[in-house]
Amino acid sequence: MTADRSKLTLIGSGLTGPLLAISLVKRGFPVELYERRPDMRRVQISAGRSINLALSTRGIHALREAGVFEEIRKIIIPMRGRMMHAVGGELTFMPYGKDETEVINAVSRAELNIALMNAAEAHGVAIRFNQRCMGFDLRSGTLRFRSRETGPRTTVETDVAIGTDGAGSAIRTEMLKLPRFNFSQQYLNYGYKELTIPAGADGKHVFETHALHIWPRGTFMLIALPNIDGTFGCILFLPFEGENSFAELDTEAKLHAFFRAQFPDALELMPDLSRNFFSNPTGAMVTIKCSPWHVDGKALLLGDAAHAIVPFFGQGMNCAFEDCTYFLELLDRLGPDWPQLFAEFEKSRKGDTDAIADLAIENFVEMRDRVADPRFLFRKKVELALEKKYPGTFIPKYAMVTFHRTPYSVAAARGAIQDRMLGELCDSVERVEDIDWSKADVLVRRELTPLAGA
Ligand SMILES: Cc1cc2nc3c(=O)[nH]c(=O)nc-3n(C[C@H](O)[C@H](O)[C@H](O)COP(=O)(O)OP(=O)(O)OC[C@H]3O[C@@H](n4cnc5c(N)ncnc54)[C@H](O)[C@@H]3O)c2cc1C
Repeated sequence: MTADRSKLTLIGSGLTGPLLAISLVKRGFPVELYERRPDMRRVQISAGRSINLALSTRGIHALREAGVFEEIRKIIIPMRGRMMHAVGGELTFMPYGKDETEVINAVSRAELNIALMNAAEAHGVAIRFNQRCMGFDLRSGTLRFRSRETGPRTTVETDVAIGTDGAGSAIRTEMLKLPRFNFSQQYLNYGYKELTIPAGADGKHVFETHALHIWPRGTFMLIALPNIDGTFGCILFLPFEGENSFAELDTEAKLHAFFRAQFPDALELMPDLSRNFFSNPTGAMVTIKCSPWHVDGKALLLGDAAHAIVPFFGQGMNCAFEDCTYFLELLDRLGPDWPQLFAEFEKSRKGDTDAIADLAIENFVEMRDRVADPRFLFRKKVELALEKKYPGTFIPKYAMVTFHRTPYSVAAARGAIQDRMLGELCDSVERVEDIDWSKADVLVRRELTPLAGA
């Protein structure tokens, strides 16, 4: 695209680094990727191995733009809705969208990471593993690394450093030393633990394959997403301290008693529960907001490095991938005028990443607490009925975030209006047939029609 041969160095070959690298190389830039971990295609890395993520429209769009979605398609499993597991074993299915096109897709983090790294290397990107970035001299453009294998420190000169190094970003740590850098981090007092449900004797999934399974229990929950090998990757979310917490479950006997009381149908299918529980680390969940995301035209943060969010809307990766879409659109429009491009990128994106951070916290309460509530399920039904009656005007908030590319801040604002409308329409009504549709007409015309096209 350009005669500019700026050397671009990306720090972090997680999910976003290789994806962005592919599109930058395609545009003619020399790109190198540095990753602190060993190459997971050659070395077994246990933590994060079984976790799977929900990939949806924004992420798929970015993968398509980079020309890698057809490869990724082979490793995803569509999930059509949430399957709620009550303590007594009853199952309730709640579709995510209005039809089969509105699904989210389970994908193994490790398999996705491998597929993206393979694609990046196939496009000529060099990935240097075992290289932990220790800092960046923003004036001279010198990155400092330490080899995990041998220990020696090296330096690398670059024109531009892009921090795709996740929530604990080393590039962001460097920016923290600058005057007037804004930074906030907010931890949940909940942690998470990876667990696994193995495939059945026939090698197939032991629960419905095309669903995200959820055991909502008010102040805690278990979820399970299908893997292509017939297993389920599960995540247990518990408070760190207090009643029904990680601190409380400190013996095998207590763990089993807890599962027997809360998740009996899952317990039966988890022969490795104790080993998984006591050997896997307990992860923390944090919301990070910061600004500016860039230093002149020298350094930029992208993905979790700029805006880590809690996982309850299934959007962290999708949002990070969408960063690539916005960034590349600006690059194509403005060319490699890095200072202007970085400033424009943050300006176009920050309001949206702040919005999804807040929506993700909101959804935490919904998943844990409300999905088992019959009134909540009823509201979801009414939402779908409203969407059917006012297509393109009433779009459920979950759908705007997950199945559309509506900017997150717009989805949040419209979602708040729709929540109020739903409150009014569902109040003292028990069946969708009893909804006051003339009132719905008035509300939609008054509140949503003026926003059409927003
Ligand atoms: C439990 C859980 C469930 C989730 N579920 C979903 C989901 O369903 N859907 C969704 O969209 N998102 C989900 N997310 C969020 C998603 O994982 C992140 O948003 C996504 O991984 C961000 O991608 P990234 O490339 O910015 O960072 P990462 O994927 O974290 O990659 C960062 C990379 O940088 C490397 N690195 C870090 N520091 C250095 C350094 N100093 N030097 C060199 N390399 C370094 C790391 O080793 C890593 O490879 C979930 C997160 C969690 C914790």
